[in-house]
Amino acid sequence: MTSDEIRETFLSFFAKNDHKRLASASLVPASYDPSVLLTTAGMHPLKPYFQGLETPPHHRLASCQKCFRTPDIDVVGTTTRHLTFFEMLGNFSLGDYFKQGAAEFAWQLSLEGFGFDPADIWVTVFEGDDELGLGPDEEAIEAWEQIGVPRSRIVLCPRSENFWQAGTTGPCGPCSELYLDRGLDWGTEDDLPGGDNERFLEYWNLVFMQYNQDPVNTLTPLPAQNIDTGLGLNRMALIQQGVDSIFETDQFVPLMDLGRSLAGVGVRGGTDVDERALRILSDHTRGMTFLIADGVVPSNEDRGYVLRRLMRRAIAQGHRLGFEGAFLPQYVDVVTETMGAAYPELVRERETILRWVTAEEQGFGRTLETGLSMLDDLLAGGEVSGEDAFRLHDTYGFPIDLTREIAGERGVPVDLAGFDALMEDQRLRSSAGAGAQERVGARQEVVRRLSEQATAFTGYEHLEERTTVA
Ligand code: ATP
Ligand code: MG
Ligand code: MG
Ligand code: MG
Repeated sequence: MTSDEIRETFLSFFAKNDHKRLASASLVPASYDPSVLLTTAGMHPLKPYFQGLETPPHHRLASCQKCFRTPDIDVVGTTTRHLTFFEMLGNFSLGDYFKQGAAEFAWQLSLEGFGFDPADIWVTVFEGDDELGLGPDEEAIEAWEQIGVPRSRIVLCPRSENFWQAGTTGPCGPCSELYLDRGLDWGTEDDLPGGDNERFLEYWNLVFMQYNQDPVNTLTPLPAQNIDTGLGLNRMALIQQGVDSIFETDQFVPLMDLGRSLAGVGVRGGTDVDERALRILSDHTRGMTFLIADGVVPSNEDRGYVLRRLMRRAIAQGHRLGFEGAFLPQYVDVVTETMGAAYPELVRERETILRWVTAEEQGFGRTLETGLSMLDDLLAGGEVSGEDAFRLHDTYGFPIDLTREIAGERGVPVDLAGFDALMEDQRLRSSAGAGAQERVGARQEVVRRLSEQATAFTGYEHLEERTTVA
């Protein structure tokens, strides 16, 4: 099954079961929330419905949502299952079916739509939590037993894994997750779902929104019980296509191949480091393409900074693999070819995307060369002090990410605590110097000017140094 077929299988299954299909919302949330800069789950754009602030178009909904998870940036390439940008399939019930219904749909689609062997599916259930005053989620356990899942494959998990909440207060509830057992080639007899292992691949999360939390740890039942689920399309592609990692699925093969050809190594060659670099390049260039298509522009704060970080990490990996010439635009082309039919905004915004990535690649290429040679000298000295890391970051625009990563590979320690302290000092100094509002205004002005000048992108690094924020 291709990724496109997976998307269609999911959405048509739920449409057939009376769910209204919704188009993906933008990666940029409709209302600004500094704690959630980008859409991280299918439920995110539907929040006003769950909170009762807006009337949903139907009490059952289904979507395929573009998601971006900033915290996963560092993980990409080191696991078989994490991306920054990915598609999340979801079905939602607003005061309609609850645990039993959600479990039945997930089970039926896993078996009939996606062909799973029931013996390979394990589920996790919330084990309860003293602070919340809750015991194990018996209702969920019963729902799974009713379906025929043996008790031995229902695993209890703590609050950290199986209790969902969006902030410290607000709607929340236990969840139950579905895992595919990939077998002993991927781990040991002692592994369990919910642990951090590759044997059990989490593919679907069912959230049972049944409480309001306010104040912290005090729960009252919600008037209407809701279901919010998320199934990772790319993880399902890994399973359906019988490959070992998300990077070998149909959406990624052309990107990984482009990387190999740019690196001048044969298809499926390369060392471990190369493989990881190729994965980072594939993931980050995809993320960057989708972010720009949704209107994000590189800057030094908020989501613009996430985009910039992504582009710079990709550029750095390309340099390390010895890519020559401008390569980000080539990645943009491949992303657009593979994903443009499902996401026409990529085709529509193509010129804008190319303009931004070209500008960043040119601007950062120079910074990178200077920074890399300075870092080389520091590494030869056997350690990188907080001051040195800060100077590289602040004066030379060489990101701390890269310092940490390259030093890590060479086994050289970096004083990150020292670096953080200097960043904090700088932050305090600059907020003492000017009103915070004023600084935000000035930075926005710079961002605006930069976006106007995107084609003639000179003086960029200079401007940026003066506006660097943590
Ligand atoms: P993991 O424990 O593997 O990091 P998660 O518990 O953080 O996943 P959820 O927040 O439950 O993930 O998201 C719902 C589903 O979205 C997951 O079950 C998975 O299929 C998919 N998903 C989550 N994070 C990623 C990611 N970084 N890349 C690809 N798919 C993801
Ligand atoms: Mg995660
Ligand atoms: Mg998880
Ligand atoms: Mg999960």
